[in-house]
Amino acid sequence: MDIHEYQAKYLLKRYNISVPEGKVAQSSEKAQTVAQGLRAKSFAIKAQIHAGGRGKAGGVKLARSPEEVKSAADEILNRVLVTPQTGPQGKQVRKVLIEQAVEIDREFYLGLLVDRGNANVTMIASSAGGMDIEEASKTAPEKIMRVHIDPNIGLQPFQTKKIHYHLKLPAKLLRKSTDLMTSLYQLFSELDCMLVEINPLVLTKRQKLIALDAKINFDDNALFRHPEIEDLRDDLEDDPTEVQAQKIGMSFVHLDGNIGCLVNGAGLAMTTLDVIKLKGGKPANFLDIGGRADSEGVTKALELIMAGKDIRAILVNIFGGITHCDMIAEAVIEAIKETGVRTPIVIRLAGTNYKKGRQMIRDACIQAEAVDTLSEAAEKVVALAQEN
Ligand code: GDP
Ligand code: MN
Repeated sequence: MDIHEYQAKYLLKRYNISVPEGKVAQSSEKAQTVAQGLRAKSFAIKAQIHAGGRGKAGGVKLARSPEEVKSAADEILNRVLVTPQTGPQGKQVRKVLIEQAVEIDREFYLGLLVDRGNANVTMIASSAGGMDIEEASKTAPEKIMRVHIDPNIGLQPFQTKKIHYHLKLPAKLLRKSTDLMTSLYQLFSELDCMLVEINPLVLTKRQKLIALDAKINFDDNALFRHPEIEDLRDDLEDDPTEVQAQKIGMSFVHLDGNIGCLVNGAGLAMTTLDVIKLKGGKPANFLDIGGRADSEGVTKALELIMAGKDIRAILVNIFGGITHCDMIAEAVIEAIKETGVRTPIVIRLAGTNYKKGRQMIRDACIQAEAVDTLSEAAEKVVALAQEN
C-alpha cells in the first residue's frame, strides 16, 4: 500500500526525522491560510499524488508570499499530472502540501527496501540525490552505496558511518546522520515497510539534515498489524476496479490488452497470462477470484472484467478441486445470463467432474465455448479477440 508524501512526512516526524513544517490543503483558499500560518519567507507547493517525478511535471512550485501560494495552488489543484510514474493517463491532483521552503546546499538520496535476492534489508544512499536519481544510477553508479542489513541484528554503527563518509557529510553531523538512519530503519521495521525513500534528503545552508520528500510503501500482508496505517489509505488514488475486487476478497490487476481473464488461483492466473501471451494475445487483466467460484462470485468477477474498455474476448480458466466443475459450470452459465455479457467466452475446466461441467456449458444456450486444454483455450480466445 502506498501513502501520500504528507502522510509519510508525518510518520517520519513521529520518528524524530526532520521535515519542513507544513500542512495539506484541498483548496487554494485553504492553501493561502496554511501559508499565512507558517510565517515563512518562501513556500513550497507540492501536488499530492501516489507517484514521483512531480518536480519535472510542474507539480512542485516555489512561492514568495501567501498570495503567490494561492495562485500556485490554483494551478496545481484538480490538474491531471502526467509523470514517468503515473502512466500516460496521469493522476488527478486533489490535495497540495504547503511547506516552508528550504534553502538547499546539497541533495542526497536515502532509501531502505526489502531485498528478496539477498534475504535482507538494503539501505541505499547516493550523493547524487534529487530529481535525476534514475539517470545518475546509470551514468554514475559509483555514487550509489548499498549496505546490507541483517534483520536479526539490525543496522550497525559501522554501516551508518560508512554511509556518512560516502555522502561526504560534515564531520560534526555524524551524530545527527547516525540518528537519522537509525530512526529510518526503526520506522521501516516497526511499520512493516517494503520501501522507504527520502529523495531528496537535503543538507540545508544552515547545516541541517531535512527530509524534503518522502515515499513509503507498506507490506499489504502486514497491514492487519497496523490499523493506524490502514487508515491512511486513499481509495481515490487506487484503480477503482482493483479496490472493488479487494473488498470482495478477489485480486485484480489491470493490464493493457483486450482479453479478459477469470481464473481461480494466483498461480493459475499467472500461467493463463503467460499462455495467452505465448499464443500472441494480450491479456486485459489478472484476476484471481480466490475461493469464490459460486454464481455470485463469478457474476461479480465478470462485472469487474467488463468494466474495462476494450474487452474483445474472455477466457475462464478454472481448476475444480474442492469445488466441483459441474457446480462451476452452473455458476458460469448463471453469471453470463445474470450480467447479459455478449462478449465471446472460452471456458477451460479441469479437475473434479470436468466432463460433466463441459457438457453443461455445451448444452446451455450461451455464447461460451468449452475446450479441453489451456493451450487450446488460449489459441481460441486469441483468435476470437482478433476477429471481434
Ligand atoms: P518529486 O519530483 O516528485 O520527487 O518531488 P520532490 O518533492 O522530490 O521535489 C522535486 C524537487 O523540488 C526537489 O528535488 C528539490 O530540488 C525541489 N524542492 C522541493 N522543495 C523545495 C524547497 O523547499 N526548496 C527548494 N529550494 N527546492 C525544493
Ligand atoms: Mn523526490
